[in-house]
Amino acid sequence: DLARLTPESEAELAFEGALRPKTLAEFVGQARVRGQLQLLLRAAAMQNRTPDHILLAGPPGLGKTTLAMIVAQESGRSLRMSSGPAIQHAGDLAALLSSLVPGEVLFIDEIHRMARSAEEMLYLAMEDFRIDIMVGKGAGATSIPLDLAPFTLVGATTRSGLLPNPLRDRFGFTAHLEFYGTDELEEVLARAAALLELDIDRRALAEIAGRCRGTPRIANRLLRRVRDYALVHPSTGSGEATPSTGSGTGPAGLDAVHAALELYDVDALGLDRLDRSVLEAILVRFDGGPVGLNTLAVSVGEEAETIESVVEPFLVRIGMLTRTPRGRVATRSAWQHFGIDRQAQAGQ
Ligand code: ADP
Repeated sequence: DLARLTPESEAELAFEGALRPKTLAEFVGQARVRGQLQLLLRAAAMQNRTPDHILLAGPPGLGKTTLAMIVAQESGRSLRMSSGPAIQHAGDLAALLSSLVPGEVLFIDEIHRMARSAEEMLYLAMEDFRIDIMVGKGAGATSIPLDLAPFTLVGATTRSGLLPNPLRDRFGFTAHLEFYGTDELEEVLARAAALLELDIDRRALAEIAGRCRGTPRIANRLLRRVRDYALVHPSTGSGEATPSTGSGTGPAGLDAVHAALELYDVDALGLDRLDRSVLEAILVRFDGGPVGLNTLAVSVGEEAETIESVVEPFLVRIGMLTRTPRGRVATRSAWQHFGIDRQAQAGQ
């Protein structure tokens, strides 16, 4: 499923790694965030101190991990990577923090899923580069203070609203990543195609850019399938090749893109199967809404968090869904997109 926005296999992880921009200058789009990060990193470098802690918020696949790597790279520091679900106890975090080398960048993905006890330890660590370790139990328990090497925390979350305020407040800077525009996505794709040495025509790139949910990861994922398709069906080129190239096939074209889109079950607006089943449930089962998130989640057999942080942001962005205090409501364009006649529906 496209909606599984995390890398789906080792092969895809390697593929993503190969396409990751290594510097801020190579990072496409998000101009505002890039400018803000650049300032923050330069100021820290001039004062010879660790950069402020950074929180990156936004839906999956928009470049949070990539930016964390760039922060380390651009400030000449090494990077340690962890994730909220891997930090189940305060002890897990204590072990991680006490093993950092001075100035290191610590990336914690899905930081909103860290254990509560670890969160509290993190407040002090972020503020004073210090933690208190509890030893013993009951009346004999004591806490031993431990100094840490200074570090920069880069936290990533799909939902900054899920972070407790004390944690959010301790980040010096929060970047909200937005869905990418089609021009930016075309640039992401052109860059990736060049790195992959894939010959693909501009119409094909534009088609992918318009149907990848505003998300570079999905754009690259579709491009990878287009590459495979063009490899297996070399005669399906766009026909735009000049005879002088002598290859006889020409660049990969729209046929290959359509094959990839079909494979991933992507519709004309770039909605995938999960997007559509969420919208269809609201339209058909709940008469357009409002319907509460949990009811909706049960009805499509998906976790509420996935619906809220992966599916809904894009549907809201393209004007198919609104979130109201009483629940989720499908908009007029959703009724139109699915070709459902509301009156007929109501009369049943
Ligand atoms: P996230 O951590 O937000 O889920 P990633 O940083 O892992 O997203 O990005 C997913 C993929 O998309 C990576 O392969 C990366 O190369 C690509 N990507 C993300 N943002 C950009 C960008 N601004 N420019 C070029 N490629 C990008």
